[in-house]
Amino acid sequence: MPPPKSKSKSAAKKERRPKRKVCTFCADRLEPIDYKDQTRLRKYISERGKILPRRISGNCASHQRALTVAVKRARVIAILPFVAQ
Ligand SMILES: [Zn+2]
Repeated sequence: MPPPKSKSKSAAKKERRPKRKVCTFCADRLEPIDYKDQTRLRKYISERGKILPRRISGNCASHQRALTVAVKRARVIAILPFVAQ
């Protein structure tokens, strides 16, 4: 039997294995996510006011969904910007 193929072109050089991010909402057991909590929501939007994707924020799927709703609510009541100037 042939050895298992390693699917890598550049792995010989340097293998990128990012540290496993843990969902902060799961860790803090915060439920539901407060859309009036500006300081917390600020951490999950970019400089331009966009919501960070899950691969960057490290949230779990369910909390990322709840966060998206919270950010959108916060935008409507003018806590967070739709777009930064
Ligand atoms: Zn979570």
